[in-house]
Amino acid sequence: VHFDFSGRRVLVTGGGKGIGLEITRFLIGCGADVVVISRSAADLEQLTAETGCQTITADLSSAQEAERAARSAGDIDLLVNNAGVAVLQSFLETTPDAFDRTMAVNVRAAMIVAQVVARGLIRRGVPGAIVNVSSQSSVVGLPDHAAYCASKGALDQLTRVMAIELGSHGIRTNSVNPTVVLTPMGMRAWSVPAKSGPMLARVPLGRFAQPLDVAQAVAYLLSDGAAMINGATLFVDGGFLAS
Ligand code: NDP
Repeated sequence: VHFDFSGRRVLVTGGGKGIGLEITRFLIGCGADVVVISRSAADLEQLTAETGCQTITADLSSAQEAERAARSAGDIDLLVNNAGVAVLQSFLETTPDAFDRTMAVNVRAAMIVAQVVARGLIRRGVPGAIVNVSSQSSVVGLPDHAAYCASKGALDQLTRVMAIELGSHGIRTNSVNPTVVLTPMGMRAWSVPAKSGPMLARVPLGRFAQPLDVAQAVAYLLSDGAAMINGATLFVDGGFLAS
């Protein structure tokens, strides 16, 4: 599958590893000029060595850092809010600190970065597109994911409000909602067969998602092929939700 993003400048958050790294590589392969904001400097050094892309180190759990990083990215045409955290705690053990950190990264940072990008697009008078990387867990409960599920449900709602408010400026906002992907985050939650087996059994296609499955869905929603798609939640789940 190929898309043409030449001449488009794309900001990807959390591009240091996992799904965000795959999205970054895929979009660069489609000709995009990609800027990555992520946390671990070592990941970003490696990414620059591999692709030559611009990187910004920031901790998006801080509202101030999220705003600073987004501003320092310069003029952006397309945004992928991918950075996210999952702190595994049972509902009864979920701490206020873990809840707040999860909401700060998964929801608040997505809002702040999108505000900076959308203001820039409106000021420049150019259209744009935003994809928020949500999860199937925005609509189903997963054990030990109370804060995470709450954050992804909130992110889907943020996506809808962004779609209706930014749509009149020619800015489309959608989300992709993957099932399990065995990235570093996915491995922490699902590497034990006793946990992953029952989950896998509910995916009609019989496998978890690959980072590339998610990257291609993101690219489609960013592309002009999705010109009339705004406010959608695109599940990349092999049919999990239909089962
Ligand atoms: P990983 O943990 O493998 O990678 C997440 C990336 O986001 C890392 O580069 C990480 O940097 C960065 N990041 C996390 N917190 C911050 C922060 N505070 N500031 C800046 N960067 C940060 O996760 P995945 O690739 O699996 O997840 C990517 C997205 O996909 C997330 O939004 C996740 O919720 C979602 N998703 C994942 C699924 C899965 O099964 N893996 C399923 C459905 C959705 P660092 O490592 O340096 O902290």
